[in-house]
Amino acid sequence: WTSGTAEAAEVSLRELAALAETAGSQVLDAVLQRRQTPDPATYLGKGKAHELKEIVAACGADTVIVDSDLAPSQRRGLEDVVKVKVVDRTALILDIFAQHAKSREGKAQVELAQLEYLLPRLRGWGESMSRQAGGRVAGGAGIGSRGPGETKIELDRRRIRMRMAKLRKEIEAMAPARKTMRQSRRTNKVPSVAIAGYTNAGKSSLLNVLTDADVMVQDALFATLDPTVRKAKTLEGREYTLVDTVGFVRNLPHELVEAFRSSLEEVGEADLILHVLDAAHPDPEGQVEAVKTVLADIDGASEIEQIIVLNKADLAEPETLARLRSRYPLSVVVSAKSQTGITELKEMIAEHLPTPAKEVRVLVP
Ligand code: GDP
Repeated sequence: WTSGTAEAAEVSLRELAALAETAGSQVLDAVLQRRQTPDPATYLGKGKAHELKEIVAACGADTVIVDSDLAPSQRRGLEDVVKVKVVDRTALILDIFAQHAKSREGKAQVELAQLEYLLPRLRGWGESMSRQAGGRVAGGAGIGSRGPGETKIELDRRRIRMRMAKLRKEIEAMAPARKTMRQSRRTNKVPSVAIAGYTNAGKSSLLNVLTDADVMVQDALFATLDPTVRKAKTLEGREYTLVDTVGFVRNLPHELVEAFRSSLEEVGEADLILHVLDAAHPDPEGQVEAVKTVLADIDGASEIEQIIVLNKADLAEPETLARLRSRYPLSVVVSAKSQTGITELKEMIAEHLPTPAKEVRVLVP
């Protein structure tokens, strides 16, 4: 469903399809519904929902993925019509993050985000009943005000909350280790550069070019989940660290922004940000905005100088490159693939690294 322009909706749908493929699905068909507001009962509206049912049956799909967030009742309403599983954008993104989390911390963060998403969506009539009972704590309700279904849900909720509290503690306990690592890098005066940018923009590829490291490069969204720290050198041989971060995506579920705040802190502590942009994407400015929205949420990140790296120059239209160059004065045109513009980028990085602290030598006679 969209109330916006057809092009914007198509870009968003194409991205959703790419996300679904990253999650391991095969995309069979797409349906676009234009209306002012989503239908409260079936999201698409009755007529369109039945049309979707036909399409689902014709192509043999087992899941419908919707390009926005669904209220629990809308999801059920649509499921009742189409007769297959209905998943919303947030659930899909959470699923991908779950598949790609590698570190213990990353895994804990994704699980926390998934539970946060699940908690308000547990179905049951307990919801309104407990409100009637004056919001008393679970287990202490008046007789007759609680059915067995509610008890079960309350129990599930309690278990989930307990698990969430445990995960939060675990994550908190892991944070100091990373902080110590960061601090030791700082006291050693190694400047740090963070690579940020929309998912699939070419961050990992660029990291490889700049460091000769062999990071997995994948034509899929979210190949990178946990921050990777690599050593790199300027042309003059000055050492700095390069941090690759989580892929940014439009409408990143707020549960995830929260969960990944600690990983994103790396960006907030960097001396310089390389903001990588896929210049061949149909809406590069939209991607910049999406990334900036996430960065604005990270303490200190908005004050850090950003070099906009216009990547995929080998694919981009010259007019687009010219437009982006004039829009973003501190930018450089590169292709991580054909390795053009890399020297210019390295020079620009060297120019914008903080000046090395003067060495103070005390000569003891
Ligand atoms: P990330 O998600 O930002 O880390 O992006 P990746 O580095 O994994 O790259 C995503 C896809 O874009 C991969 O298929 C890369 O091979 C491709 N890619 C990256 N840089 C370039 C480039 O300069 N030109 C072209 N044509 N493709 C690129």
